[in-house]
Amino acid sequence: MKLLMHTCCAPCSVFCIETLRNEKIEPDLYWYNPNIHPYMEYKARRDCLIEYSKKININLIINENYGLREFCKNVIDNLENRCVNYCYRIRLEETVRYAKENGYDAFTSTLFVSPYQKHDELKKICEELSKKYNIEFLYRDFRVGFREGQAKARELGLYMQKYCGCIFSEEDRYSKQM
Ligand code: SF4
Repeated sequence: MKLLMHTCCAPCSVFCIETLRNEKIEPDLYWYNPNIHPYMEYKARRDCLIEYSKKININLIINENYGLREFCKNVIDNLENRCVNYCYRIRLEETVRYAKENGYDAFTSTLFVSPYQKHDELKKICEELSKKYNIEFLYRDFRVGFREGQAKARELGLYMQKYCGCIFSEEDRYSKQM
């Protein structure tokens, strides 16, 4: 099976890649994350994934469309629902579009490893996109390996982010500590 896996960062990819490889599925990774702010944070996560993918010999496709302004314009009127209404959708739809145009059989996402994401909503969006683009959605509940994957990522010295990604999640993370 030719699988394209949307990849949010190197630490989250560790358990997902291991699981798939254990199933004899070799995914290609697809980086498209205009939700990571500010730019130096985006660069830190992207560069870490580039290094990690070389180390484990996996194919990584980078979509460099950063799109900070576009992202902010699209979420600002409804910040409460930004993850489901915009953030998940644009990242996944771009992944599915690329998969369809480039002859992949199926797609999935490392977002399914995180217990902090809205898992069921993510799954619903993937199911919708699967129908819309007529391409298989390979669902795995990777959350069972979240802690294990994060521990391995730390051992490997991967860059570990402190907040989800957008500038609004950065505020949520740190303003509570003040
Ligand atoms: S909190 Fe995370 S998932 Fe939600 S909009 Fe921000 S970056 Fe996207």
